[in-house]
Amino acid sequence: MRFAETGYNLEVNLSSGNIEKVETDPELTRLHLGGLGTNAKILWDRVSPEADPLSPENLLIFGTGVLCGTPAVSANRTIVTTYSPQTLLMQYSMMGGFWAPELKHAGYDKVIVSGKSDGLVYLWINNDKIEIRDASHLQGKGSLEASELIRQELGEPNAQVLSIGLAGENKVYYASIEHGRSSASRGGVGAVMGSKGLKAIAVRGTKDINIARPAEFMELINEVLEYIQWRADNPIKHVPPILAGLGSPQEMAIHDEQWHTTAFSWGNARYRRKDFWTEEVEEEWTKIQEGAVQRLISCYNCPMKCGAIISYPSLELSKYMMKCYSKLTYVMGAMVDNLDFGFRIAGLAQGYGVDAYTAPQVMAFAIELYENGILTDKDLPDFPTDKEGRFFYLLEKIVRREGIGDALAKGVYWAAREIGKGAEEYDSNTIKRHEQIPIKLGMLNPIFFLMLSTGEKINITQIEGQLPQAPFPEKEDREEFVKDWIQAPSDNIKDFFVKWELRGDNAFPFFPDFQTACELVEWQETMHYIDDSTGICAGLSSFPIKPPYHINNLPTIISAATGFDIDKDELWNKITRRNRTLIRAINVRKGLRRKDDKPPQDHWKKRFPEHEAKLLDEYYKFKGWNDQGIPTKEHLEELGLGYVGEDLEKRGIYNSEQSKKES
Ligand code: SF4
Repeated sequence: MRFAETGYNLEVNLSSGNIEKVETDPELTRLHLGGLGTNAKILWDRVSPEADPLSPENLLIFGTGVLCGTPAVSANRTIVTTYSPQTLLMQYSMMGGFWAPELKHAGYDKVIVSGKSDGLVYLWINNDKIEIRDASHLQGKGSLEASELIRQELGEPNAQVLSIGLAGENKVYYASIEHGRSSASRGGVGAVMGSKGLKAIAVRGTKDINIARPAEFMELINEVLEYIQWRADNPIKHVPPILAGLGSPQEMAIHDEQWHTTAFSWGNARYRRKDFWTEEVEEEWTKIQEGAVQRLISCYNCPMKCGAIISYPSLELSKYMMKCYSKLTYVMGAMVDNLDFGFRIAGLAQGYGVDAYTAPQVMAFAIELYENGILTDKDLPDFPTDKEGRFFYLLEKIVRREGIGDALAKGVYWAAREIGKGAEEYDSNTIKRHEQIPIKLGMLNPIFFLMLSTGEKINITQIEGQLPQAPFPEKEDREEFVKDWIQAPSDNIKDFFVKWELRGDNAFPFFPDFQTACELVEWQETMHYIDDSTGICAGLSSFPIKPPYHINNLPTIISAATGFDIDKDELWNKITRRNRTLIRAINVRKGLRRKDDKPPQDHWKKRFPEHEAKLLDEYYKFKGWNDQGIPTKEHLEELGLGYVGEDLEKRGIYNSEQSKKES
């Protein structure tokens, strides 16, 4: 009997129409857990690095975490893994909601989609009955509308559906896969789905999932629930309200726009507007948000209610769901001082299915090019003069790939190179060809430097967490903070926190020491990698400060569910390191090298090139990578990934002359 996982994947080839239920090897679960770990292994084994991400050879893997569908609170993540058309690297984009638990209850751990169908289709998974169905009548439909129509035509209101919109059908490089309550948005996973001619996947499942030691497991999960309740009554002190609680940042419940609008940058990631926030703005925006939010909602088996149903009668379906920062990304990108605009355009964009972080930045980039004479009225005929109108205009051009929208549909990096005429100079906020959250800060921070430079998620919010973003000014407060810090992995991290104080300009970038900086980054990244394999939401684990799931209780929870005896060392130093290193190797095989490990060019005003180079050297050594950021053969061998080292060697990737030339 298999525990926590179902032991089966669903293989769907859209070229041949072949559908197969395939039993999986339990040893792979022991080595990689589920979700991201086993997704990565499949991608390494089965997709050639030479394959075009938008070709039938690329795989689109919908993986559930190993704990999804069990009573583990918030274990509901779907991890969508593929090669990205935008970064040309491995992409793994996560979504919450209800889809992954439903798939587990239907009897599958993953859906692995290959090939390309002749016309637009959708997949209907109803326990053991699987069908590829015609979706030509859904062509051009918005993502949420398509999901609703599918539920109606199946006569199955409880089916969980994920779908692409027009952007995915037209292979926009930052097209998302939408699930209503949540979405997999980053890196163009929706474009890959569109390239396969797959409009949607609907699932209904009614089977049970086995737990190895149910009584022990339930006791542990009840402790998690009790802690969540305790934290609701005891928020973290000395941090902004948005970081004081649990869950995804509670942007739908808390009116805290001041923090984002004054701490993040506006336009094409260039300006901070500290003076923007006034009492009048706060009053007006509170009114707008309270008018827009119909009610707060949660994902499967979670009490946190991080999302909301937004009601806007002017939109396609009049209602949509939102969480977090996307109400502001368009407002700030367009430099519009009106939250109402944010709700209206975000709803429209969700129907089209575009990433709410990347799309506004691409549009702001286009406007900056226009204002600087690089794009002209010839490129943007009938371009509105008002800021809101310009954003709506650009959104339509991009999702239809009309005129200049065709280049802009590839994201800032590729569009800049296609447009030329100096447009590259305006590519100010990408890493590895991918747009970042727009932040402009003064002084280099070694921990954030390493996370931004080396993170394979290419997205800082999915690497950071657990540590307050700035030191507490008073030593007594820092000492109090560490007293009940049961989540900290070591005393060294607690010592660091107590000594972490506001420092002058010259001292700060050299604190903490290299070893501690490496430990801090690895700890935070490790937590995200564990979540991505268990399917637990980062909002209750890797992302907030002092979360209910942490490195000191997760090994017991995973062991009780799966029946594997996994301790902290095994979970961190073997399984997670194995997954992290395998993903690095996958990207190295795709050409990733040290030259790519850098933050956006003007992210910090003050930079320290020598210090940064040394930090990278130390971090690479700490990770078991060589000076080009390539996992060493010896380290791969230690992790049971000897076959990966052999492949890299066969391809000449360890040849230092070649590596140097490429760097
Ligand atoms: Fe969903 Fe929030 Fe719960 Fe995470 S913490 S599962 S985002 S409701």
